[in-house]
Amino acid sequence: MKYSMLSSQYKLRGWADDPYTLVHDGEMMKLSKDEFDTLLLCDGITDIEKLQDQKTIDTLLLFRKKGIVCFSQIPEEIDREQRYFLYDNPYICDVSWTITGRCNFRCRHCELNTPDAAMNEMTHEEAVRVIDRMAECGAQRLHLAGGEPFVREDFWSLVDYALEKGIKIEKIHTNGWMLTESVLDKFERRGIKPEFCVSFDGVDRHDWIRGIKGAEQAALNALKRCYIRGFRTSVEMNLHRGNVDVLRETVDVLADAGVGKILCREIKDNDMWKRYAAGNEMTAEEYLEAVLRYIPAYYADGMRIDIRFDGIVEMYKGSGEYSVIDGNDEGGGCAERHIGRDGEIVLQKRTVYNTEKMWNEKELQKVRNACAEAKKRFTTHSA
Ligand code: SF4
Repeated sequence: MKYSMLSSQYKLRGWADDPYTLVHDGEMMKLSKDEFDTLLLCDGITDIEKLQDQKTIDTLLLFRKKGIVCFSQIPEEIDREQRYFLYDNPYICDVSWTITGRCNFRCRHCELNTPDAAMNEMTHEEAVRVIDRMAECGAQRLHLAGGEPFVREDFWSLVDYALEKGIKIEKIHTNGWMLTESVLDKFERRGIKPEFCVSFDGVDRHDWIRGIKGAEQAALNALKRCYIRGFRTSVEMNLHRGNVDVLRETVDVLADAGVGKILCREIKDNDMWKRYAAGNEMTAEEYLEAVLRYIPAYYADGMRIDIRFDGIVEMYKGSGEYSVIDGNDEGGGCAERHIGRDGEIVLQKRTVYNTEKMWNEKELQKVRNACAEAKKRFTTHSA
């Protein structure tokens, strides 16, 4: 064990607010100064047999046990990319990027892709510059959204450029229409398995809101295809008066399709919705009522999937655990940057909720009671 080196894929990084960290596959691990100094020795060319300090040796052995470093008798310098780099901006855990405003669908609620498709996208050169800027800031993970991301002609070229810059493609938001076997092949050929977040607005209801016949079947096929091939999936569902009656059935169908998580949110009464579906939006109170009605069904059906009702509650697959969302809680976690189709940057806290309604304690207590009662009723048999 003359030389120690960082295992491949591990990188030493620092940001203005977190100067000592280790990065692996887009995940950041904070280090103590001592741990950091120990890992600095793992450059593949420093002779660690000369180390005297037992604490450093013990730390090294611990890192080896975790697979973070490996030992060798032969000097071999670690990759340039693995060496320490300090960014002068705060840490950014994720960047979500609307890479296009164009879409092959014409959803009733979508203000982005208006019927005349007026919302467009930045040029290839501009998009490349955005990726350069992300890399300069040390962004680790990228979520691609639209419009429909796959309609961008240079989609793969942008993916390849981001990968070349060491940015992980973490998640892709899509309507699923273009998520074919050959698209999955292309991801696999690049050695990446992003999560696909597919829009799905209810069994026998989806096509109505999406404006495309066959959209529902296409989304379900895409979800199943991903599941079979080992890609993680999640679903975003807009709840409104016209689909709340099929919520239970929809959750069941999505669980069968291997979906990992559903995010439900009340649809907003925006200009497009007013024009094409006015009267179908729920009031905040109706939304809360719908969630309260659904909670016992979720438990009775076996808690088959993680589900979150934006601004109200999140319930976790299998365990019966739940977390009531206090709208006043700005939450912890890290800030996420969103880059719009024109390149404008918006900083958003992951845990700030979209709902306009802040529930009072009495209303939140109703949610807690509903979860607690359902959990007690439907999970005691297996305990
Ligand atoms: S699929 Fe998404 S981006 Fe496309 S029109 Fe519908 S809501 Fe808008």
